[in-house]
Amino acid sequence: MSDPQNPRAAALLEVEDLHVTFGRKHKTYAVNGVSFTVNAGETLALVGESGSGKSTTARAALHLETPDRGRVRLMGRDLAEVRTRELRSMRRHAQMVFQDPYSSLDPSMTIMRIVEEPLRVHTAMSRDERRERVVEVLGLCGVPAAHLHRFPGEFSGGQRQRIAIARAIATNPELVVADEAVSALDVSIRNQILNLFEDLQRKLGIAYLFITHDLGVVEQVAHRVAIMYLGRIVELGPTAEVFAEPRHPYTRALLDARPDLTRDVGGVRQTIQGDPPDPTDLVQGCAFAGRCPYAVDLCREVTPASIEIDGRESACHLDGRLVAEVPGAEPSGAEPSGAGR
Ligand code: SF4
Repeated sequence: MSDPQNPRAAALLEVEDLHVTFGRKHKTYAVNGVSFTVNAGETLALVGESGSGKSTTARAALHLETPDRGRVRLMGRDLAEVRTRELRSMRRHAQMVFQDPYSSLDPSMTIMRIVEEPLRVHTAMSRDERRERVVEVLGLCGVPAAHLHRFPGEFSGGQRQRIAIARAIATNPELVVADEAVSALDVSIRNQILNLFEDLQRKLGIAYLFITHDLGVVEQVAHRVAIMYLGRIVELGPTAEVFAEPRHPYTRALLDARPDLTRDVGGVRQTIQGDPPDPTDLVQGCAFAGRCPYAVDLCREVTPASIEIDGRESACHLDGRLVAEVPGAEPSGAEPSGAGR
């Protein structure tokens, strides 16, 4: 298996300059030029506040949402160039697990039918082969075969998420996109499901794109992390390095706000002063300038490009070694808004 932390490892999913808008007359700029890769066998977390565009990015990366612009390659194939039928068959390689295990499983279908469904759509397996595979993946996910003919309503939230994960891995995908897949679960159940994700990665070599607002989840499972703010990735790098030494002021403020995050999962905005700009306006300059204690005139005029230094990317005019080049900026003495509360 390739080394997930090696940037030259085989790229499974390549997303380049992705843009997504909603609405015609009054446009919402949901995703504004996002680029990242997910390598074989790794976990990349996309993190951000509600409205940062992380879920839309994930859906557009699988062409479940049509991007306005940008390129997505899954296993080397440009998804804009594949026909609808082929796109459907390519989905066997990339499956999704959603946030709410209560609404994502059809209550009228048995567990057998639910987990079997992608095998019916994407494979030519016989009924017996499908049954065998369903029992196998349920076993991998800790669900006894005795439950095959029961219905979702008979299971707890954690068990339902195990069933949803079994359905996602039934076609043996290389990539699973988990959209807030543990955020509806109690902490102890959440940890069990995160352990399951890790266990499956070790056994099957699956890569994950984890969409989450929860930095604790990121720290636990992600090899690399991409921090999103208002439709853009502002920082990307190995999780341990980004957490130990954040380069972007927004990342630093998010990490400083962590104790509050664990008390109130929706509380990021209470710990970083101000609100993000309206996503219906395309902001000139840095989108974080209105909340950033380091902002200088340049920040309000020029959108910072993402710059890579030593395998880490950051989109800030003051990033690392660039600080000395920006007159009037003295981040070392300042504290981000809300820091240390
Ligand atoms: Fe703050 Fe300027 Fe960096 Fe934006 S570019 S994060 S406003 S210092």
